[in-house]
Amino acid sequence: MRVATIAGRATVLTGAGALDVEKASQGRFPAGRGDLFERWEEFRAWADEVDPSRYGPPADLTGLGAPSPAPRQVFAIGLNYRDHIAETGQTPPESPSVFTKFATSLTGPNTVLVLPAGNVDWEVELVAIIGRRAENVAEADAWNHVAGLTAGQDYSERVVQTAGSAPQFSLGKSFPGFGPTGPWLVTPDAFADPGDLALECTVNGQSVQTSRTSRLIFSVGYLVSYLSAITALLPGDIIFTGTPAGVGMARTPRRYLRPGDQVVSRIEGIGTIRQDVVAAS
Ligand code: ZN
Repeated sequence: MRVATIAGRATVLTGAGALDVEKASQGRFPAGRGDLFERWEEFRAWADEVDPSRYGPPADLTGLGAPSPAPRQVFAIGLNYRDHIAETGQTPPESPSVFTKFATSLTGPNTVLVLPAGNVDWEVELVAIIGRRAENVAEADAWNHVAGLTAGQDYSERVVQTAGSAPQFSLGKSFPGFGPTGPWLVTPDAFADPGDLALECTVNGQSVQTSRTSRLIFSVGYLVSYLSAITALLPGDIIFTGTPAGVGMARTPRRYLRPGDQVVSRIEGIGTIRQDVVAAS
């Protein structure tokens, strides 16, 4: 099942068409997404039973927003693919390297990215969306706390990211527009194997990153378990799981984003998100 945010409204998309959740449930479930994640299991049970005749025609996808528009917490993982660790000259971590992207950096899937000063880089990433409060969750039970998966870009301005005597990644990852996600949430049961999805980033049509999520050092299940042992994960929270090799700062010569670039990120079984890069006016 795919669940999108269209013009701010939760919408189920299937082969039968589009289903506005609030209207089709006659108000039982809200139009906005935050409260829906609080009742995700109940929502799934309802959605699985809706008569296909109640679906409307395919939705207008120009209004797509972030699949989780207002997460209370945003986690992001650095150094989680071996080939990316090697290209950055680091050694594999013994535990996940965790930072945040502040919520104001989040957007829907297809946007214009305004370049701040500095060196702006691309990072295609699988993003997990939490569907049930998680505290001290065992890895074997972790997927029961995941509402679904989506595609994301962890745009990164490398000067701010590495500034300071004890560099903190979060600000360099949080300029406006630096966290596009989408095009929709895909529930875990919709994949043959939600732990092994091809992902790719292209810049101006040229492939710069390709990998598979089965190569994550710390898997989605491990991350949910690890994080939930430290801090509670809340419905609607999102986890950017890390990026594979091929970022601009590791290329020779280094290649950062320029006005006019188009960045397309795709994940198998989920879909594509796109940013058109422009200069600040
Ligand atoms: Zn990243």
